[in-house]
Amino acid sequence: MNRTSGAILVLSGPSGAGKSSLINQIKDHIGPIYFSISTTTRPIREGEVDGVHYHFVDIAEFKQDIEQEMFLEYAVVHGNYYGTSLGPVKKALKEGKLVIFDIDVQGHDAVQNRLSDITTSVFITTPSLEELKRRLHNRSTDSEEVISGRIEMAKREVQRISEYDFLVVNDNLDEAAEILVSIAKAARMKIPTLQINEFVQTWEIS
Ligand code: 5GP
Repeated sequence: MNRTSGAILVLSGPSGAGKSSLINQIKDHIGPIYFSISTTTRPIREGEVDGVHYHFVDIAEFKQDIEQEMFLEYAVVHGNYYGTSLGPVKKALKEGKLVIFDIDVQGHDAVQNRLSDITTSVFITTPSLEELKRRLHNRSTDSEEVISGRIEMAKREVQRISEYDFLVVNDNLDEAAEILVSIAKAARMKIPTLQINEFVQTWEIS
């Protein structure tokens, strides 16, 4: 059965779990994708590029986008606004692409509420809290205060792993990437309810 539209792959997990490295490693092995670039009010980090890693905006601009219903979902994470713009996602879905979101547990909840029949979700984390702390300190892009905030947030987020379809423990990058490639390929095959109903009707009469 051929899909007529795309599908969604949600990736969540604590900052420092290696989501970005994993996405980089798999992106050329899973067919046509659109990686959703979120909008955020958090300050730009060293090495980040506006329009590539995020669209960096101020709070007034973000609130205006909320009012104009530009977001598929948005949430406050670590005290800053983050949101997924609806327009590019709709376009990519129409083009039959696998749309990949790197969003938090609140964002995942919102996407499941609106588009569960085309959504597959994965929670990515380190093998332990200790390992997460080590990676966050080694990354040294954030202050101690920000790091402790991320650790507290991670402790809360892992409590919600059961809301996800898959859990990937990123102990070894190559192994985790291989698992994620399989999940991404399967995610693309998820068929919207409407299309299943159409298939059943035609199947019965042809
Ligand atoms: P960071 O500031 O480290 O780039 O991201 C912090 C957290 O915000 C991560 O857990 C990331 O998944 C989440 N995040 C990034 N973009 C979005 C978004 O558009 N919506 C939501 N709900 N969360 C996001």
